[in-house]
Amino acid sequence: MREMPLSHPFDDDKLKEECGVFGVIGMAEAANFVALGLHALQHRGQEAGGIVAHDFGPGFTSARRFGYVRDNFTKASLMETLPGPISIGHVRYSTAGSKGATQIRDVQPFFGEFSMGGAAIAHNGNITNAIALRRELIDRGSIFQSSSDSECIIHLMARSLQQNIPDRMKDALRRVEGAFSIVAMTRTKLIGVRDRLGVRPLVLGQLGDGWVLSSETCALDIIGAEFIREIAPGEMVVITENGVESSQPFENVGSRFCIFEHVYFSRPDSILGGQSVYETRRQIGVELAREAPVEADLVCPVPDSGTPAAIGYSHESGIPYAMGIIRNQYVGRTFIEPTEQIRSLGVRLKLNVNRALIKGKRVVLVDDSIVRGTTTTKIKQMILDAGATSVHFRIASPPTAWPCFYGVDTPKRENLLAAKMSEDEMCEHLGVDSLKFISLDGLYRAAGQAQGRNNAKPQYCDACFSGQYPVAPADMLENGFEIKTAAE
Ligand code: SF4
Repeated sequence: MREMPLSHPFDDDKLKEECGVFGVIGMAEAANFVALGLHALQHRGQEAGGIVAHDFGPGFTSARRFGYVRDNFTKASLMETLPGPISIGHVRYSTAGSKGATQIRDVQPFFGEFSMGGAAIAHNGNITNAIALRRELIDRGSIFQSSSDSECIIHLMARSLQQNIPDRMKDALRRVEGAFSIVAMTRTKLIGVRDRLGVRPLVLGQLGDGWVLSSETCALDIIGAEFIREIAPGEMVVITENGVESSQPFENVGSRFCIFEHVYFSRPDSILGGQSVYETRRQIGVELAREAPVEADLVCPVPDSGTPAAIGYSHESGIPYAMGIIRNQYVGRTFIEPTEQIRSLGVRLKLNVNRALIKGKRVVLVDDSIVRGTTTTKIKQMILDAGATSVHFRIASPPTAWPCFYGVDTPKRENLLAAKMSEDEMCEHLGVDSLKFISLDGLYRAAGQAQGRNNAKPQYCDACFSGQYPVAPADMLENGFEIKTAAE
């Protein structure tokens, strides 16, 4: 059986970002830089990765592999097969088209050969009308190679009558609904595009004479590139040896960037919207302490994602911060498919309570989110078993009550704890002394919106909390999914 690396101690009880994209142009052996960039974006997808490169001579070359970037794209024998000054890459969790076991044919970048030359595409996000598009394309004769919704873009490009690849891409993306941040390449061009709402991130960087596109700024840092700016919602950049050419093929109707990137998905050392992700998370903790104070002896993070918010909570409340839970950094492949006996140990394989600290204390635990709630129950029990006198949970996001259709893997609505219960009911169900989530307004304030959420025109996508989807999920609606009504 193929081993699937785990990214987080509670992979079964977290929302999962599905993809990271990275591309470079104008650098010798560009694929090596792409491998490093993908390594820095590994938190956005651990199932598989792929790199495409181009050099005059061999033409386009590609490699797709299951597993971590570091286990595949560090081998000289492989990297030598990806020569040239232009390259793009992709890491994935899984796409909307292929939940569960990934097939190698679903691993991006995808490649298409057109009359004016080839193009490779790596996509972060989710096309919300992919089923309808695929049906239409198949009816018209397209033959799909994968189950990924992203392949629709290649087929739509093949049908365009435009004379060059960027214009064909614009044509194709005008038919596409949903969220996309795309990094693409031709023989001589690196192309970056964001959907009109800019739901998923995409940034531009520079290194010497070369240019970089990346899902996050942390991946610019790893190769020493300078962060230039974010690609704007609805913008396309086409980068050649002559520099960066920008156009706005899709109307900029106001950003609805994913607010969960601030809470959890992005790395804390990245910059989003001009603000450090770490600082936003710390500020969430500050807001939480103001909104939901509690008498306690210790504030402890649920590692690692709860750490900055716990620091903020401690700072604002004056309750001492402590590492009450220690994460085993080396849980991974050894226990991926363990025996039933080992599996029953569950969270204990990954986390251990620092008993000496916890015993006899009233403990505030800060976590980034509650999805199904299964892990929260286990952690609470571990803390009580270690002798804590009370356990209070403070959550750095509002209740996650709605699934995401924009490139994040979420359980079905009926499996989200907050879809079934109020905050008080969740508190009772989880058996904790108190449970409080940050408000939507508090989250917006922490993310730099001093006045909180503008309910008439929200500044972010927050559909998984509010049920207000900025793009109607057409495929899901066709399948019977019901969006929140105004009365709810
Ligand atoms: S629904 Fe939630 S996770 Fe999905 S894009 Fe919107 S804020 Fe992000």
